[in-house]
Amino acid sequence: MKSLEKLFAMAPEFTIPPMVTNFFTSTLNTNEKRAMVIAAVALIFAWFAAILYRNVVTSLARSYVPFMARLLAPILRSYSYDEEEFFKADGADLSTQKKRKAGFRKLASSFNRKYVKSREAMGKGLSDLRFTNTNRVPFPFQKIVQDTLKVGSLVVSTNGPEVQDVDGNWAIDLSGSYGVNVAGNEMYKKWMGNGCHKTADLGPVLGPLHPVVIENVKMLQEITGLDEVSFHMSGTEAVMCAIRLARFNRKRRKIVQFNGAYHGWWDGVQPGPGNERSVPDVITLKDMNPLSLATIRARGAELAAVIVNPFQAFHPNSPPPSDLVLMSNKARKTDAGISALNHPYAVWLRKLREACDENDVPLIFDEVYSGFRLSRGGGAAYFGVKPDMIVYGKTLGGGMPVGVVCGKEKLMRRFDPLHPLRVAYVIGTFSAHPSVMGSMNEFLQWVTTPESQKIYEDGQRSFDEFAASTNEALALAGMPLKITNLATVFTFEFTCPSRYHWMFQYYLRDQGVNLAWVGTGRCIVSLDFTKEHYKKLQDRIMAAAKRMAADGFWSAEIVSSNARQAARMAKELAFHSAIMPFKSFYDKVMEQKEIDHHASHSHLINQFLHFISSSIFIWCYVEVMVSKTGDWSWPVELGLISLLVRQAGHYVFEPPCHDAEQAMLGFDTRAKVKICLLYGGVFSAFLGRWMARQSGYETAVRLTDVWLLATLLIVFGRVAVLWRRYSFAVSMHWWLKFMTDPFTDLPAYWRSCYQVFSPRLLKDAFAKSFPKWFPNHVPIPIEDLGNGWGVDHAKAH
Ligand code: PMP
Repeated sequence: MKSLEKLFAMAPEFTIPPMVTNFFTSTLNTNEKRAMVIAAVALIFAWFAAILYRNVVTSLARSYVPFMARLLAPILRSYSYDEEEFFKADGADLSTQKKRKAGFRKLASSFNRKYVKSREAMGKGLSDLRFTNTNRVPFPFQKIVQDTLKVGSLVVSTNGPEVQDVDGNWAIDLSGSYGVNVAGNEMYKKWMGNGCHKTADLGPVLGPLHPVVIENVKMLQEITGLDEVSFHMSGTEAVMCAIRLARFNRKRRKIVQFNGAYHGWWDGVQPGPGNERSVPDVITLKDMNPLSLATIRARGAELAAVIVNPFQAFHPNSPPPSDLVLMSNKARKTDAGISALNHPYAVWLRKLREACDENDVPLIFDEVYSGFRLSRGGGAAYFGVKPDMIVYGKTLGGGMPVGVVCGKEKLMRRFDPLHPLRVAYVIGTFSAHPSVMGSMNEFLQWVTTPESQKIYEDGQRSFDEFAASTNEALALAGMPLKITNLATVFTFEFTCPSRYHWMFQYYLRDQGVNLAWVGTGRCIVSLDFTKEHYKKLQDRIMAAAKRMAADGFWSAEIVSSNARQAARMAKELAFHSAIMPFKSFYDKVMEQKEIDHHASHSHLINQFLHFISSSIFIWCYVEVMVSKTGDWSWPVELGLISLLVRQAGHYVFEPPCHDAEQAMLGFDTRAKVKICLLYGGVFSAFLGRWMARQSGYETAVRLTDVWLLATLLIVFGRVAVLWRRYSFAVSMHWWLKFMTDPFTDLPAYWRSCYQVFSPRLLKDAFAKSFPKWFPNHVPIPIEDLGNGWGVDHAKAH
């Protein structure tokens, strides 16, 4: 205690409360001390309880979809149905399969007639197209669909909401250009032209700004009620900017986002499907869940921001539905057009706003999709909630590429006035590009007029009427689908289970309806749809649905429930993911053996020596297995001899062709030379020991141990090298091949045992290895019979 007092004395500037010094200097009485200890324990307990509560609440509110997606992605194996399985994936009977086949063929030949030029011109080389073309349908169906139903994607002109492809086919466009097309193609054509014209005198000057930029900023400030604006080239880039600024200004790293919400392709906001990287600074919570609010409250101090995509109102907790996942009628959970302010999502957003306010956490609305779509004021106005930052994109560019962030001044700052080196370097060459700003200016001027307000209202009314009458017609015709919409975005919701819902996109296309690559999951109409367009669209939807039903793809009696269908699919997946990998592993090993044969084991004498050596090896394996004494010196020594016999075959008669190995295997066995030198060293040691014995000396080291060690080192060294250079799988293929070579050599090379006694074949074999000794020899033409690795030399001539 004395030393403590001294310590206290050394720090006179701190006045230590007498309670504390008294506690240590024992001037407190026992009760006081007890009270203090209890208080400390209670404090520690409360602290732990708070941590426990925070973690429990987070784990209950967290969505495990991202984690599961990353876990399952490398495990689940892809597989493709063949022609037969393709039409009976749900166990359909023969007559339904026939109907389906005929319908499918009809569709294919119609596509072949329609998309001649488009298909030819497209060719290969555009990776986006390869991705979207592949991911239109569930994977077991992909191969046949890709080979047969070739959709043309080259378009040349638009006329209102109709689009024309290079083959001259016109289709009603439900793709909405990924959400860009709100006002109608003709408007964007005008704005793009006017925008370029407005800024044409400036040309490509960047840095100094064209005055339209200032006008745009003013209009955006008015629309959003936020202080500052920043311009970018895409929605993804704008989301990156918003999150980075929130992190910088809040001095926190963690972001909350909600399950299923799309925020662009930056992997920093894709913690689940579509991204292999784990994103530890994003917490993905369940949408519309009170526990998520509790989590935000409990973790408020750690959060940089909460980001919301207001379009989740349409299908909370799930990504935008696409035909890729259309396996059952459960894939669509949509909230049929409940209007705005009393929409359950509006209530949720208001609660979210409160939770964020209480903890001073910025709330970001990602309105790249919903901005100027749900209403003129986007999701914020539609649901009546005011965020701290809004991210825009798509339509705001007036047809040109754009991303915009609007936010409160304190969140938009990119420098720290107190720390000159703390800077958030967020700036891009093409931000505020004159042409983009010009067309944005056109768009903003239009969207802020009273006429546009009326266009929004009329457009919404017409769409609602269309949706109601189409649903009535579909129900009347007994079709298992209906339309559900949020503003002018809609989805086809299927009312019966089927493995073939995704086929509907192809029937629609064939009727003249253009869809985005996600197919019937997300369809968009623009505000320029007239009554005639809607009538045409309804007729085409009805015709497509009736054709699909008639072709037997919705035979409800076949798959009676989602559960039965899910069980069927789970069985298929389990088979392909758990059983098939073993088969493909086996195939790979056998393929390596075959390649190895062709690269360096096709010589008669070499094969014969391999047969001998393999037989000895097998004997050695058996000896080691049955040995009761544990003394393996004899089999190990024999193993060495057999290896020498084996390698002699290569050294004398048939050197391995490394180039062939490299070409066929992807790696070669050049290192074999070094390996053999090492073996040679061990062999010399044997000789040395023998000579030493002859001279009356006994060696202390058991050379068999040295040899065994060398072998293990070399084999596992090679496994390690292959693993590091290629992959674990490649190293295991090699290892298994190596271990089982003696067993597969026997059936492969047994013929050589009698063929070596044929003088003709023997002479031919020698002539092959030593052509100088046989100058006039005409080689026997050996054809590989192609039945594994055992070339039948006798049959070959
Ligand atoms: N956020 C949302 C809500 C989106 O819908 C999208 C695009 N669909 C993005 C961000 C990304 O925008 P972009 O494709 O322009 O990068």
